[in-house]
This record gives sequence, structure tokens and C-alpha cells, in this order.
Amino acid sequence: MTYTLPPLGYSYDALEPYIDKETMEVHYSKHHQGYVNKLNAAVEKEKKISEMSVEDLLKNLKKIPAKIRQAIINNGGGVYNHSFFWPILKKNVEAKGEIVDEMNRTFGSFEEFKKQFSDAAATLFGSGWAWLVLKDGKLEIVQTHNQESPISSGLVPLIGIDVWEHAYYLKYQNRRPEYIENFFHIINWEKVNELFLEAKK
Ligand code: MN
Repeated sequence: MTYTLPPLGYSYDALEPYIDKETMEVHYSKHHQGYVNKLNAAVEKEKKISEMSVEDLLKNLKKIPAKIRQAIINNGGGVYNHSFFWPILKKNVEAKGEIVDEMNRTFGSFEEFKKQFSDAAATLFGSGWAWLVLKDGKLEIVQTHNQESPISSGLVPLIGIDVWEHAYYLKYQNRRPEYIENFFHIINWEKVNELFLEAKK
């Protein structure tokens, strides 16, 4: 299998002004593509491994030969996380549906969810992601470092925010909290609700 860059699904300026066109272009066509290229390079001499999907690689890290395992964590994770990220972004979608009911039950209120998720994103030291996941059928907020993916720990991601500087620095520079605040304008709640309902089946 050769790993490929999935379509972005919208134009580079679709999330303006919250994520600027230039950031989107570089993030998708350079960073995401870069993870795809490095993943292909990592599995080049590993025929068995190269027949596995990205999801299977990340869910079965113990089966990966030690010499390429870190490259799979980094670049397979980079491919998976970004492929997950783009479809959960859409401007001005109302937060509603079963997922919002479940967040109210778990966190007490939507505002409390927003606070805890934002804190997780703001306090992640260095590069990584904050996630809303399902763990054993329950909502939880977690952080992952670098390109580690929640699916490697048996978690089901529902929302992820990329807090690598490459995701926001051109527009926000050091103002990560402002990027996080604006992220709430571009969560595709319809998609997130679909992921939730699928995972609860
Ligand atoms: Mn990124």
C-alpha cells in the first residue's frame, strides 16, 4: 500500500478568519504531505507492514519492527491525526445533537466542557494535540504529545485540536489561547455528532 494525502474537502480560505488561507495551505500541502512522504519512506523495505492501513499500524504498534516503530508513531500518527482533523472543521455549525447532550451529562455544561478542553489545549507543553475522546464509552479530554495518536491507546477521537505551532503561528504567533478560543467557531458539530453516534453503536 502506498499512503496518500486525502482530499482536504474545502478551499484553503474556507475557515477564514479563524484559520488563515496561508496557514491552511502550508499545513495541508507541506506538513500533512510531509508525514505521508515520511510514512511511505519508513515502510519502504517492510513489505508486511506496508500492507497495513494507517489505523492498523497505529493500533498495533507492538507488531511494528522496533527499528521503524518511532517513525510510524511520528509519521503514521501525523497522517492519521491530520486526516482526522480536516473533516471535523467547518465554520459556524451550531453545537447540537446527542454529543452535546452527552457533554452536558459528563461535564455539567457545555461551558465547562469548553473550559476543560481549552485548558488541555493551552497547557500542553511543546507540540501535540488535545482531544475529546470516548474511552470505554465515556467522554474524556486527553492530551497527546508530538504526533502520538489516541487510537494507539484504544481511544476513539471525536474532536482534536492541533496545537503544534505550525497550526497557528503565522496568524496568532505566541497567542495560542486566542487560536483555541477561535477554534470553537470552526468545529463541525454535525461531523462530531456522527462520529459519536458511530462509536456508540
Ligand atoms: Mn499539524
